Amino acid sequence: MKVLKFGGTSVGSAQRIKEVAQLIGGGQKIVVLSAMSGTTNALVEISDYLYKKNTDGANEVINKLRAKYYDHVEQLYLTDTYKQKAGALVQSVFSRISSFTKDLFTLFEEKIVLAQGELLSTGMMNLYLNECGIRSVLLPALDYMRTDKNAEPDTVYIKEKLTKLLAEHADADLYITQGYICRNAYGETDNLQRGGSDYTASLVGAAVKAEEIQIWTDIDGMHNNDPRFVEKTAPVRNLHFEEAAELAYFGAKILHPTCILPAKLNNIPVRLLNTMEPQAPGTLISNTTEKGKIKAVAAKDNITVIKIRSGRMLLATGFLRKVFEIFENHQTPIDMVTTSEVGVSVSIDNRKHLEEIVDDLKKFGTVSTDTDMVIICVVGDMEWENVGFEASIIHALKEIPVRMISYGGSNYNVSLLVKAADKTKALQALSRHLFS
Ligand code: ADP
Ligand code: ASP
Ligand code: MG
Repeated sequence: MKVLKFGGTSVGSAQRIKEVAQLIGGGQKIVVLSAMSGTTNALVEISDYLYKKNTDGANEVINKLRAKYYDHVEQLYLTDTYKQKAGALVQSVFSRISSFTKDLFTLFEEKIVLAQGELLSTGMMNLYLNECGIRSVLLPALDYMRTDKNAEPDTVYIKEKLTKLLAEHADADLYITQGYICRNAYGETDNLQRGGSDYTASLVGAAVKAEEIQIWTDIDGMHNNDPRFVEKTAPVRNLHFEEAAELAYFGAKILHPTCILPAKLNNIPVRLLNTMEPQAPGTLISNTTEKGKIKAVAAKDNITVIKIRSGRMLLATGFLRKVFEIFENHQTPIDMVTTSEVGVSVSIDNRKHLEEIVDDLKKFGTVSTDTDMVIICVVGDMEWENVGFEASIIHALKEIPVRMISYGGSNYNVSLLVKAADKTKALQALSRHLFS
C-alpha cells in the first residue's frame, strides 16, 4: 500500500482536483488531502473575528468562502446529481461554521471550525472520484487519528482503528482521508498544528506499514536552499531521514517538522513530488547517506538567545543541569547551545515564558537576551573527520556577524545564529559558496 498526500495548492481549484484524481491512478492507495489553499487561513480569520465577538466580520469571510466553494462545485462536477450531493456537503459545512456566530466561542469551537477545510476537500474529491466511476471511500480521520494526554499521536490506537476501517472497506479501489485533523485524548476535535497533513501522511504510512509515503506539493522536491529567499535553488535528489528531519525542523517549509520520525522508525521511504510536474524525479528520503556532500540550507525564524555568564560556573559541576532545568520547568525547548567555561548561550523559539525564565536564571549569573535572531542550518555529511566543510561554511559568512555556532551535535548539521536582518544575505552567500 502507498500513501499519497496532496497539499493545499495541489487541490487548490476544481481543475487541480481533477488533475490530482488523474494522477492518483489505479491500485489500492490511501490518499491524504489538505484543505484547498487559502481555506485554513480563512478559517483562522473567521475564528479570530468570533473570538473578538465581531459577528459581521466573521460573516463577511464566511460568505466569501461559501461562495467560492459553490463555484468550485459548479466547475468540478458534470452531472446535476453530483452537483447536488456536493452542494449539500458545502451547505452542511457552512451552516456548522455559521452556528458558531450565535454562541460562546472558545478553543473548543475554534478546533471544530479549523477542521472544516479538510472535511470539504476530501468530501469533494471523494464525490468527484465516485462520479468518475472509481470506488473510493472516505476514511474519517476523526474516527482513527487521535492524540494522547501529552498531545502526541496515540500510535497504538491509530493502527488499531485504521486497520479496522480498512478491513470494513476491503473491496474499495481507493481510500481518501483528511490530513491535519484528529481527536485529542478527551475525544474532542483537534489538529496536528498548521502544515500537519504531512504528519498525518507519515502516521498513516507507519500504521499500515506502507511501502512508500509520497508528499505531493508545488515544487520539485526539497531544494538546496529556501526558494522564497534565494534564486536558482536546485532540487536535492536524495536525503537521509536525519538530514530531512534537520531541514524540516530548521525551517524548510516543504515538510512538517515532525513528519519524518514515524517514517524513519518504520524505515518507510518518503518521496517529495511535484503535482505541477508529475514526471520530475523529486526527492527520495531514506536511510542511505551520500558521503562527502553538503546537501542543503534552511533557516528558522523568531529565535531568541539567552546568555548566562557566571564565575560560579568555573570548574563547577551541575551548573548546566540547573540552567536546563529552568527551561524544562517552563516547558520551553532549547534549540542551540554553546558553552564556554564561564558562560552559556541557549536559543529558544517559544518566548511565552521568557520573562520567568530570565528571572529564574538570574539566581545563577548575569543574564542577557538577544531577540530577532535566525538559525541558519547547513545539512549534509558533516562527520567530523571530513575536513573543510565547517571552514567553507564560515568562509561563506565572513561578512555577516555570527552570534553562535553549533557543530558536532550530530553527523548531519552545522547551525549558525545570525540577526534576522542578515537572514537573506546569509542564505544567498551560502548558496553562492556551497552550491555554485
Ligand atoms: P503544501 O501546501 O503542499 O503542504 P507547503 O507550502 O507547505 O506546501 O510547502 C511547499 C513550499 O515550501 C514551496 O512552495 C516552497 O516555497 C517552500 N520551501 C521552503 N523551503 C524549501 C526547500 N528547501 N525546498 C523546497 N521548498 C521549500
Ligand atoms: N490545512 C492545514 C494548514 O493549512 C494543514 C495542511 O495543509 O497541512 O495548515
Ligand atoms: Mg505543507
